[in-house]
Amino acid sequence: MIIVLKPGSSEADIEDVSRRVRELGFKTHLSRGEVRTIIGIVGDDRAKEQLLALQSLDSVENVVRILQPFKLASREAHPDNTQFKVHGVPVGGDQIVVMAGPCSVESQPQLTAVAESVKAAGAHVLRGGAFKPRTSPYAFQGLEEEGLTLLRAASKSTGLPVVTEVMEPDKVEVVAEHADILQIGARNVQNFSLLKRVAECGKPVLLKRGMSTSIQEWLLSAEYVLAGGNPSYTLDLNAIPVVKKLSHLPIFVDPSHGTGHWEYVSAMAKAGLAAGADGLIIEVHNNPAEALSDGPQSLKPTKFAQLMAELRPLAQVLGRTL
Ligand code: MN
Repeated sequence: MIIVLKPGSSEADIEDVSRRVRELGFKTHLSRGEVRTIIGIVGDDRAKEQLLALQSLDSVENVVRILQPFKLASREAHPDNTQFKVHGVPVGGDQIVVMAGPCSVESQPQLTAVAESVKAAGAHVLRGGAFKPRTSPYAFQGLEEEGLTLLRAASKSTGLPVVTEVMEPDKVEVVAEHADILQIGARNVQNFSLLKRVAECGKPVLLKRGMSTSIQEWLLSAEYVLAGGNPSYTLDLNAIPVVKKLSHLPIFVDPSHGTGHWEYVSAMAKAGLAAGADGLIIEVHNNPAEALSDGPQSLKPTKFAQLMAELRPLAQVLGRTL
């Protein structure tokens, strides 16, 4: 359910309605739009009739049932696009945000070289994996904590915030200490205990779509993060306009993992922006031929710089900035 307040409701009105909702045993999530404030309500439906009765209050315009199973992620509960900043980088607004870097953090020289080149090409966020979910137990599993330390150092020297994946609930705390955005990988999109933990960490979450996850399942996973008290995060996908209609959350496209081949990354990055994505996450490696993971889909720094140069005029045509 959501409660739509009348335009011009005062702070006292908002607090009065919120308090009544909480007293009925629900949690409230405020969404302040330009014109009106909406109170999102989370909890089980037992006191539904009492909620509907709040419609009689002077400050309440309407009490509306949300039909989508995802409540807080839905556009009904939050008509305006979600926007937030990560170390000064605005996400979810007109600015297209590009996250770039190696699949895996392999060594200090490798990460430094890639971080400096993506920064020079205009990337906004540094990506890099420290904990790597690999299909084979014999594949490179990542540098783990050492990788996090290297990411933090590269972030400090370049000024780029860092996004990196967290795979286990017990590692959320240490990853959140080193990273500015926590990524939930495609394999973990329905790992609900992990989602609950990242919801508590207070940092933005990049929630990847699972390999066969429906849009509804994906947004319900986002709901776990929002319901846990974490309002800011990002998504990625092919179903951009569908999710844009259903949800206010920013959407990112990953043309590297989406295609698996560097030659297709540029075309799909452009297609993603054209479809309405708020940003991109792209794998870049200084020596893809010797990369310990995902070399075939990694762009060389010069190719990444060329792509950024091609994306700028496209962003402008779309009414965005890059
Ligand atoms: Mn990868």
